[in-house]
Amino acid sequence: MRRSSTYLVALGSNRRHHRYGAPGGVVRAAMEELAAFGTVTARSPVIATPAMGAARRRFANAVLVLESERDPPALLAALKRTEREFGRRPGQRWGDRVLDLDIVLWSGGAWVSKILTIPHPGFARRRFVLAPACTVAPDWRTPPHGLTLAHHQARLT
Ligand code: ADP
Ligand code: MG
Repeated sequence: MRRSSTYLVALGSNRRHHRYGAPGGVVRAAMEELAAFGTVTARSPVIATPAMGAARRRFANAVLVLESERDPPALLAALKRTEREFGRRPGQRWGDRVLDLDIVLWSGGAWVSKILTIPHPGFARRRFVLAPACTVAPDWRTPPHGLTLAHHQARLT
């Protein structure tokens, strides 16, 4: 029997989708899609975040907790496929995007490879990740020092 892992997945959108409408609708639709990769055990509310970096429009952001038998590279591949299905074009890094799906944390601790780094670099500086994350998993301890998500959020403010 395969062991399942627990993942914290972050979702973001700042473009309309022809079917799901405004970014908040895109994020809610993507949350439904991610249930195909395991069992969604918690969902944060969808929050609005001002535009930043190269992006022109504000984002909708959320996180969810996923129990999955996939290992991190397999889950990343599934998330990238989902981004493409929502119409995201490659190379839109930090720009306007229909859907961004990131693996923030997983129950296995740290993971570092060429294509995948967990914890997601920069999560500790991102209010749009930490605020929703603290609504579902404030006590989740993060590598390398074991600080909780609530502690990270407190350090931001
Ligand atoms: P960002 O999410 O930082 O805005 P992208 O979504 O364009 O940037 O991601 C660029 C690349 O980052 C992806 O192709 C993926 O291979 C890599 N990556 C590294 N670590 C992660 C992670 N934890 N979650 C998602 N993608 C990651
Ligand atoms: Mg991404």
